[in-house]
Parts: sequence; structure tokens; C-alpha cells
Amino acid sequence: MRLVLLGAPGAGKGTQAVILSEKYNIPHISTGDIFRSNIKNNTELGKKAKEYIDKGLLVPDELTIDIVKDRINKPDCSDGFILDGFPRTIFQAQELDKILEGMGIELDCVLNIDVSDEKIIKRLSGRRVCQCGKTYHILNNPPKKEGICDSCNGELFQREDDREETVIQRLETCHKQTEPLIEYYEKSGKLVTVEGRESIDDTTKEVLDALNGV
Ligand code: ADP
Ligand code: AMP
Repeated sequence: MRLVLLGAPGAGKGTQAVILSEKYNIPHISTGDIFRSNIKNNTELGKKAKEYIDKGLLVPDELTIDIVKDRINKPDCSDGFILDGFPRTIFQAQELDKILEGMGIELDCVLNIDVSDEKIIKRLSGRRVCQCGKTYHILNNPPKKEGICDSCNGELFQREDDREETVIQRLETCHKQTEPLIEYYEKSGKLVTVEGRESIDDTTKEVLDALNGV
């Protein structure tokens, strides 16, 4: 299964990607995670990406596309992959098409998770994350012990770009630069839209139903 997850920041892409990655046994590739790990390790890419991420803007295409190209060429992607947070611009989508064409493969499905801006703001203000990659929500999906990761016992923290001012800019960036991808993938006949439900389990059911038809 070669899958792209589309949706606003906070729509639940990462949450569903972790579940799907386990179910289909294919890697979950999040460009946001790749940038955050570079920021943590203070790499040149991390330093450049941080300037944009902190402002709620997109990291330039030329810093983003090659990372994905290298990643999907790795052997663990031979049976499929889940792209979470990429592509985010029409240019990235066109480049992804070229990369896949060069590899002799194509996407099976682009799954769009639709959630209103009002809910997004609530989701992102309550999101807490762990260094190990697990994501929680203080109300919707709390850890067993407050502030501590169920999986690795690490301390949970709030992402810097989940502060309300940055969230508002991220939503605007999404409306302007990423939403046109809905039409782009509709035209290719690969788009399936599911409503991001109030519960994670209900959303997963909808997602699995949608993917069964692919
Ligand atoms: P994205 O990867 O699209 O930015 P996340 O998967 O990190 O979004 O989800 C954003 C926040 O919303 C997290 O705190 C997550 O626990 C919570 N969340 C995800 N899906 C749902 C859902 N269906 N209902 C309620 N909360 C959700
Ligand atoms: P995410 O973890 O997907 O919410 O991404 C966090 C931030 O990383 C975004 O707000 C962008 O600044 C940056 N980012 C992630 N993926 C991309 C991408 N495909 N193109 C440009 N910027 C990206």
C-alpha cells in the first residue's frame, strides 16, 4: 500500500499513520518528524528548517523533496509506505509523481482527513508528544500517567509550533498552499476523503473502510 495522508495540521494524520503502519507493516514517513529530528541534532538542515517551522511556514521545497526521495528509495519501502505531511504544495506533488514514475510505481490512495479549523485549534492546544514519536491529547487521548509516555516512560512535552499564534499561521499556510492538493488528487482519481471523527477509534474505522475499497 502506497499511501499519502492529507489534512490540516492536527487533523490526525500522525495518529492514524501509526495505526496503519502497524496494520500494513509499512513505514510511516513524516517530513515533520524528519525535520524535528534534524533540529534536535542541530544539523544544517535542522537549522534552516527551524526558521520556517517556528513561524508556521512551510520549509522550502528544495529542502524537502530530496529527503523524501531518499527515504522512499530505502529497501523497507519496497512493499509500500505512508507519507504523512508530504506533499504539502502542488510543486511537491508534481515532484512526487516524477519520483514515483522514475521508480516504476504509483500511489494507491490519497486519504484526506477533513476536520474543521475550530476542532483543529482544540486538538493542537491539547496535543502532547513524546521524544519516541507517540502523540497524546490531554482530553481525547490522555496517557495513563499524566505527562508520561505509556510506551517508553519519557516525559511528554508540547510542540513549540502548537502555540496558538503559530497554529493560526499554520492553518492559513495550509488553506493557501496545501488545500489545492485536494483538487489535484481528485483529478487523478486517487482521493478518498474521510471525516475526522471525534474519537480516534471511530476515525480509524472510517479510514479502514475507505482503504478496503482501494
Ligand atoms: P497531525 O499528524 O495531522 O498533525 P495528530 O495525529 O498529531 O495530527 O493529532 C493532533 C491531536 O489531536 C493529537 O493530540 C491527537 O491525540 C488528537 N487526535 C487525533 N485524532 C483524533 C480524533 N479522531 N479525535 C480526537 N482527537 C484526535
Ligand atoms: P508536521 O509535523 O507535519 O505538522 O510539520 C511541522 C512543520 O514542518 C510544518 O509546519 C512545516 O513548517 C514543516 N514541514 C513538514 N512537512 C513539510 C513539507 N512537506 N513541506 C514543507 N514544510 C514541511
